[in-house]
Amino acid sequence: MSQLARKYGVSKQRIFQILMKAKELGYAVNRPRLLARRHGIDQCEVCNRILQVAEKDDLITKNQLCQLLSLEYKICSWHLNQLKGSGFVSKKFATMRSERLVVALQYYRYSSLPPSVVGRKFGYRNFYSLLSYQKKKGIAVERALNFPEASLLEREAPTGTPFVAQNHS
Ligand SMILES: [Zn+2]
Repeated sequence: MSQLARKYGVSKQRIFQILMKAKELGYAVNRPRLLARRHGIDQCEVCNRILQVAEKDDLITKNQLCQLLSLEYKICSWHLNQLKGSGFVSKKFATMRSERLVVALQYYRYSSLPPSVVGRKFGYRNFYSLLSYQKKKGIAVERALNFPEASLLEREAPTGTPFVAQNHS
């Protein structure tokens, strides 16, 4: 919009008014930046669904998140970035790249096996150092056993929420 404003020597505000007028008259004005400005996180269904997942678990790849919410990757990323940009969601959420590692970490969290055994199961020789690396990055890899908060969260979650750690056993 500022580019337009400079080019035509009018204020940004004026351009905004023109765009609004055009919309009123039924013209589709699909400028991504305009959409961004008008995107209210509290009113956005996609953002709310992402928030629900983020509150429950941060062990997820972006791909998995998009699949879980049945969203196109591009759309999912866009809303995720809005959430991160405004601090609703940790910047670390859904930053892990490897689904194998995510599954291994989930398994580790919900099992009582030592890291070396879990690592071997998923083909990681250095699982212990992977664990401490993730911990340093701020990813919660603590074991879920004996975590009363975790079970509380699960009970409070609305029924039918699709996200459950899939590797309990
Ligand atoms: Zn949104």
